[in-house]
Amino acid sequence: MRLYVVGGGPAGISAAIWARRLGLDPVVVERAATLGGQLRDVTLPIPDLPGWPNLEAQELVQRLKAHLAWLEIPVISGREAVAFEPDAQRLTFADGGVERCTHLIFAPGLRVRRLEVDGEDQIREQSVAEFLRQAGGRRHRCLVVGGGDRALEAASRLAEAGHETVVVHRRDRFRARRQFRERLEASGAMVLWNTSVRAIATGPDGYTVALQQPGRRLQLEVDEVFVRIGMEPDFKPGIPLQDPDGRVAVVGDAATDTPLRSIVSALAGGMAGARAILRSSDRA
Ligand SMILES: Cc1cc2nc3c(=O)[nH]c(=O)nc-3n(C[C@H](O)[C@H](O)[C@H](O)COP(=O)(O)OP(=O)(O)OC[C@H]3O[C@@H](n4cnc5c(N)ncnc54)[C@H](O)[C@@H]3O)c2cc1C
Repeated sequence: MRLYVVGGGPAGISAAIWARRLGLDPVVVERAATLGGQLRDVTLPIPDLPGWPNLEAQELVQRLKAHLAWLEIPVISGREAVAFEPDAQRLTFADGGVERCTHLIFAPGLRVRRLEVDGEDQIREQSVAEFLRQAGGRRHRCLVVGGGDRALEAASRLAEAGHETVVVHRRDRFRARRQFRERLEASGAMVLWNTSVRAIATGPDGYTVALQQPGRRLQLEVDEVFVRIGMEPDFKPGIPLQDPDGRVAVVGDAATDTPLRSIVSALAGGMAGARAILRSSDRA
């Protein structure tokens, strides 16, 4: 048996830990340079991890990494898996590499949903953390689209770092939780309510964003655009989500209904995935 765990967020890490505990030999593959998944973007202390009130997300990442290291589970970072063929026992990577793989635990988490407007493909894809690292001393004009936790977290961080930040939200209230709303309010970011994005034009110095409000159109010139309108599972067409012989288990946020998506459910999902793979390998 050759087991790969694709995705190095809480679900993938938990799956690998449980797989080892169940006597399997997993290898973790992560597309990003570092492990942690969405935890890499969490800056507020985590209030709802039972037993660890207000644990810093980065501390949790360090603990999860240390747990993998303690169990001597190999981790391959900076590689994206794009296809798995169970019968051919092939796991294929975006860089063209192929590894022998008989069983897969797929824990890809979520990707940002698209606005579906003209010009969207030209937006520079970057995390807020990446932008802040590279922004230097200049005050940038930043536009954040969305009204959930992720959008408000992004906007708060940008405004707190001194960037002129505007949040565009299509409704008249945020769906984000109170702690995120309060942080945004204190950050000094401006909010355009009942506003939707119609198109985005990319120029040499940034973006011109066409906006629609009830009864009027307006345009904003900004340096950076961050679309944070919601998330969807980060599936790959080449990776099957089911296998008649149970050689694939999909776990974590990608396999969980929206209200239940959380660190706790990701950790539990990882365990369930490892058990499912063990059952399938016992049958083989
Ligand atoms: C701002 C913010 C605040 C949050 N606050 C809380 C909170 O207070 N409490 C709570 O319980 N939860 C919170 N969450 C949610 C929590 O972080 C997620 O539920 C959890 O991280 C989901 O884990 P996961 O492993 O399923 O997915 P992710 O954490 O998204 O990890 C998936 C990983 O898989 C990698 N990957 C994807 N596709 C591939 C591929 N093809 N090849 C290789 N690697 C791949 C990705 O790069 C990523 O690292 C928060 C999330 C955010 C963004």
